[in-house]
Amino acid sequence: MRTGWLCLGLTILWASTSQAQTDPIVEDIVAAVSQTRLTSHVQTLQDFDTRYTYAQGNTDAGDWLVGFFTGLGIEVERHEFTYGTHTEENIIARISGTTHPDEIIVISGHFDSTSEQPYALAPGADDDASAIAAVLEAALIFKDHRFERTVEFICYNAEEQGRRGSIAIAADYQAAGKNLVAVVNSDMIGYWPTGWGRDLDVAYEPVSEWLADLVIDVNSRYVGVPIAKHLSGACRDDHWSFTSRGISAITNMDCWDAHNGGPESTPYYHRSTDTISTLNLACMTQVVQVNVAVVAELARPLNPVGVTDQWTTVSDRANRLSLQIRPNPFGPSTMIAYRVPTTGIVSLRVYDAAGRLVRTVATGEQEEGDQSRIWRGNDDVGRPATPGVYFVRLRVGAERQTKRVVLIR
Ligand SMILES: [Zn+2]
Repeated sequence: MRTGWLCLGLTILWASTSQAQTDPIVEDIVAAVSQTRLTSHVQTLQDFDTRYTYAQGNTDAGDWLVGFFTGLGIEVERHEFTYGTHTEENIIARISGTTHPDEIIVISGHFDSTSEQPYALAPGADDDASAIAAVLEAALIFKDHRFERTVEFICYNAEEQGRRGSIAIAADYQAAGKNLVAVVNSDMIGYWPTGWGRDLDVAYEPVSEWLADLVIDVNSRYVGVPIAKHLSGACRDDHWSFTSRGISAITNMDCWDAHNGGPESTPYYHRSTDTISTLNLACMTQVVQVNVAVVAELARPLNPVGVTDQWTTVSDRANRLSLQIRPNPFGPSTMIAYRVPTTGIVSLRVYDAAGRLVRTVATGEQEEGDQSRIWRGNDDVGRPATPGVYFVRLRVGAERQTKRVVLIR
């Protein structure tokens, strides 16, 4: 009997901790990735004609990146560095963490390009506008969220001259004692000529194998593209500037073979023909979804399902949404009341304890003021939900609040 109870206890513990779970906020972030916007980001970067480190287009592209982040209303910095007789700039944007601002998660790529005629034409659509598009899209989506940790959106310069930009950042950050938890870098993530006939390749060093494994795990939970990890060895991309200093970093790429001479090698690599017309933007969008999901999970969005009870108590003190659920526990129906501080887009959704969406109670624009909706304990197709614990999650603009509710029938 005692043994039986012990087994039952262990089973429940296992189910609640080891089961592949998804966080509804991360699901929202993944769903927000837009192929239309990614196409626009890549096209804009290609339209500088060249972003070669020593060409005017590189300076212009850097200025445009600063303007993009500024336009989103997030902090942005020009990080100057020198090598030889050259002085160049990395562009770093930042969303500071709420509870652990000193712990930094980076999403990055290099914005410079090259080709056989680098001063005239180096569109660098795959290499590496594709990754910069991911960085821009992440910033655009993340600005509407809050995270425990700081997220930095980094566009390296002078990668093609030997990772000069990332080497400078890694050195400066380490000298300043900054806590870089993980660097999620990408270099060439748009060239998929046969669709998913090939893998997304994750290049890693032993120090960052945990991060490569996390990318694979997050992909399996949120996106599901074919994926493989590779010890980077001689393939020293921007992540290597960090891993050589013991900082965890990986590079996602479509082209492991491009650096290693295999069959997936892109014929447009470092050519003036590396243009957006050769990319598969549907596949690229899924890779960007993997990237943003990894960074969001690492940065820990607020209101994680499963620890909501404790979190609600802390956050309620300052929450303007005044989410109330009465009666609770309930059956057959309950009233969800809340306040809309300023007219805006509202989403009110119910999730089960495993984080699965059960019922969308309300979405769309609502007027400023007090609002209420009834939840009849059913799912989106009208079936009665199973008695148990649910989480009601309210979002109004960038503000959010989650409450636990128990359906007893
Ligand atoms: Zn590259």
